[in-house]
Amino acid sequence: MVISVASYKGGVGKTTTAVHLAAYFQQLAPTLLLDADANRASLGWASAGKLPFKVLAYKSGIRHVSEFRYVVVDTEARPEEGDMKDLAEGCDVLVVPSTPDALSLRVLDETAGILEKARANYRVLLTIIPPKPTRDGDDAREYLEGRGVPLFKTGIRRLIAFQRAALDGVTVDHIDRQNCGWLDYERVGEEIAGMLPTQTNRVGA
Ligand code: ADP
Repeated sequence: MVISVASYKGGVGKTTTAVHLAAYFQQLAPTLLLDADANRASLGWASAGKLPFKVLAYKSGIRHVSEFRYVVVDTEARPEEGDMKDLAEGCDVLVVPSTPDALSLRVLDETAGILEKARANYRVLLTIIPPKPTRDGDDAREYLEGRGVPLFKTGIRRLIAFQRAALDGVTVDHIDRQNCGWLDYERVGEEIAGMLPTQTNRVGA
């Protein structure tokens, strides 16, 4: 089962999402994270040797996929339109992270159009959502729902612990004792498991 994480815009939490979804699926069955991004941020995160799953560069790791039940792909940054279509066709679920600001939402409008045309099995994940009373997260959700863009029910809160986690080479649950960040990704992982073909849905049963 291949879960790809892709976005047209940088800095939206693509790598953070790939790392935490791989950690979630590793709890269910052996999981491989393939880093296809030229900046190799997932490999950098893994370099401390503290992540609970295997991380390999895409080109050298692709031949190992059959050894794993789940493969999460941190895709290349800023794909061309054709690349995005190929990405969507090459995975079971495509996760498209986006921050809730106006610029990201505009970029996302175009992305959603391309993915709709490609009939992709995708959902948008709102990330780095500022805390209340800021309404950015709610406003972005309303805007996207109004345009018929499929969204994960759960969004990822903006938490400083995510930045610490990346620096320390661990997942966020090792930093944040209240576990808010991990709980957000856990809920998203559950939603993704529900989007996968039925055989996989039984894995956690
Ligand atoms: P991308 O892969 O899209 O460039 P990253 O995952 O590298 O994005 O995240 C960009 C920056 O935002 C990093 O500094 C990362 O630590 C930070 N970040 C990501 N998710 C969150 C979050 N939920 N809360 C706070 N900071 C975050």
